[in-house]
Amino acid sequence: MSSLDSLVIVGASQAGGRAAQAARGAGFDGRIVLIGEEEWIPYERPPLSKQLLKGDEGIERVQLHPRSFYEEKSIELKLGTPVTGIDRGARQVRVGGEVVKYDRLLLATGARVRKLPLPGADLPGVFYLRTIQDSHAIRARLKAQPRVVVVGGGFIGLEAAASARACGCEVTVLEAADRLMGRAIAPEVGAHFVELHRKHGTDVRLGAQIVRFEGAGKIERILFADGTSLACDLLIIGIGIVPNVELAAEAGLVVDNGIVVDEHGRTSDPDIFAAGDVANQPNAWAGRRLRLESYQNAQDQGMAVGRNMAGESHIHNDRLWVWSDQYETNLQMIGAPSAWDRLAYRGDSASGSFTAFYLHGGKIVGINAINNGREVRTLERLMASGVSVTPDQLADPAVNLRKIGG
Ligand SMILES: Cc1cc2nc3c(=O)[nH]c(=O)nc-3n(C[C@H](O)[C@H](O)[C@H](O)COP(=O)(O)OP(=O)(O)OC[C@H]3O[C@@H](n4cnc5c(N)ncnc54)[C@H](O)[C@@H]3O)c2cc1C
Repeated sequence: MSSLDSLVIVGASQAGGRAAQAARGAGFDGRIVLIGEEEWIPYERPPLSKQLLKGDEGIERVQLHPRSFYEEKSIELKLGTPVTGIDRGARQVRVGGEVVKYDRLLLATGARVRKLPLPGADLPGVFYLRTIQDSHAIRARLKAQPRVVVVGGGFIGLEAAASARACGCEVTVLEAADRLMGRAIAPEVGAHFVELHRKHGTDVRLGAQIVRFEGAGKIERILFADGTSLACDLLIIGIGIVPNVELAAEAGLVVDNGIVVDEHGRTSDPDIFAAGDVANQPNAWAGRRLRLESYQNAQDQGMAVGRNMAGESHIHNDRLWVWSDQYETNLQMIGAPSAWDRLAYRGDSASGSFTAFYLHGGKIVGINAINNGREVRTLERLMASGVSVTPDQLADPAVNLRKIGG
């Protein structure tokens, strides 16, 4: 018998599902157990605020693999039941009434929605959006074309708003800050999205100061600090997520804004790994640690860590790419700039298709491509080259960006 008999993965979603697939793909022939609190086989969340919410896609389209895949690959699924403890000494996890032994353990426990701590935020008719159930529940109500209010002008809130508009609902977005998607993009690019949503008939209110929600047995109105109110039949709250670190923390692993891992995905215990939204990882492009909340990271880090658990050695250095779809507009973001001294543009925002470059000391530290997906690989290479550029070069359509980076 080899010394590596059993891999256990906690969290049967994107990172966990991909890790199981990759470990098997790397030739690991021992036991793989994939344990998930949700009852669904692993699925991808991006469509939950987009196609699934609009009713354009069925549930089978969001699954990572059909159920038969797990049988064919001998990946044991334990679904609908959370892991409640890790015994690092005995190398086992507690799930339901049983324990499952591991030689290597992956924590891919992701994140849960951040709750809004305001009176009335738990009234019926108030929803968050993280799971298939959430998406189904909202979708079922959108059909009746309620007056929808979205709290939070981040990706999830804005995508939900766009989907609700596509269903013919009256929609208001309430954002406390003075801009949209403020954690991810520059105010100038955010302003383009304010216009986009308004153009589609969504009432976008920045600087909104909500004090409470009211209604007789269900949400009916929102009260603001200035004494005004807004009628509402369906409230969707999207104000961010909180990493599920409790299992790791209770087991004594190092936790700091997520489970702290090295570039191989190893935690402070060499036999325990973490990946996806829950992992705080070094990133060479950003030059600092990041806890990423993105599809691509969950996928790529999950795969790399799955192979590492099987005995290979892969470094995951996330490419820092995220996208969002709102109405007919596709936004792709490259990099995670924390500071920039200049924004440069290529293309005309009025046309709906343009690129914004974040420059710091003459170098590109971040890029937003708006309806410009076909250029993204070129843009990524240009940024990765570290070449010095001027705003005029970037703006000039006669300059071939493929040739600047060398
Ligand atoms: C509505 C929505 C739209 C999105 N759209 C985009 C997009 O357009 N672009 C993009 O880049 N990203 C998008 N994302 C983000 C992306 O989906 C996440 O980054 C990705 O799902 C992270 O995967 P994960 O496996 O790390 O974590 P999660 O998907 O959070 O999965 C973690 C799983 O672990 C389970 N779990 C937790 N604790 C336990 C336990 N103790 N025992 C067993 N199981 C446990 C959870 O129930 C969950 O199923 C979107 C997310 C949402 C919610």
